[in-house]
Amino acid sequence: MLRNQASGTLTLNVNEIYETLQGEGLLAGTPSLFIRLQGCNLRCPWCDQPESLGEGGNMLKMEEVLLRASSSKVRHAVITGGEPFLSPGLPFLVKELLEMGFSIQIETNGTLWNSSLEPLAPSVHITCSPKGVAGYYTHPALLKYAKELKFVVDGQLEDKVLLREEFRTHLESKRVVLQPESNKKEMFERALDLQSRLLEKGFTTRVIPQIHKLIGIP
Ligand code: SF4
Repeated sequence: MLRNQASGTLTLNVNEIYETLQGEGLLAGTPSLFIRLQGCNLRCPWCDQPESLGEGGNMLKMEEVLLRASSSKVRHAVITGGEPFLSPGLPFLVKELLEMGFSIQIETNGTLWNSSLEPLAPSVHITCSPKGVAGYYTHPALLKYAKELKFVVDGQLEDKVLLREEFRTHLESKRVVLQPESNKKEMFERALDLQSRLLEKGFTTRVIPQIHKLIGIP
């Protein structure tokens, strides 16, 4: 009853909900239900979701979002943005989707955290994508649970950032992805260069393009 009341009164500011393939990172190729939340605390110069940054979106009741999810055959949900940790309803959404049998991925810039997510975090694939505009800062609690670090390789990213102490555990466990910005040729070359520099230091990273853009799907 309480649960039903909560899903009836909680709201989420949603930019869009749609089915596609996960096009990025370690779970690339997975059929996914994207739940894109509205609003972001950063402004990256090459952001490919500018419509999800500021005002706008649709304020939906939680139960409406869950209903949309339940009507999908896809059972992997990607909660993304914008920045999903700006939404206070995020832990409730994750809990409900897990109970519905979804595997959950959260894509975040890593600067924020919600302690209510703590008990659920081990069951979630958190993809943390540290951003240059934030000095590559990552919240320590979030970093502890991040299953993947995904760095966009732009003109700013350098190997000394990847070699920072706070990213060392992910480097050592081969969970660092280098994603060339906007699939640009020169950024692929930079990514391969960064990869070989790290390899010289004993760390294996993965260069993975945005495959949804290569095959022309959203
Ligand atoms: S953190 Fe992500 S959504 Fe926010 S501005 Fe940067 S790329 Fe865009």
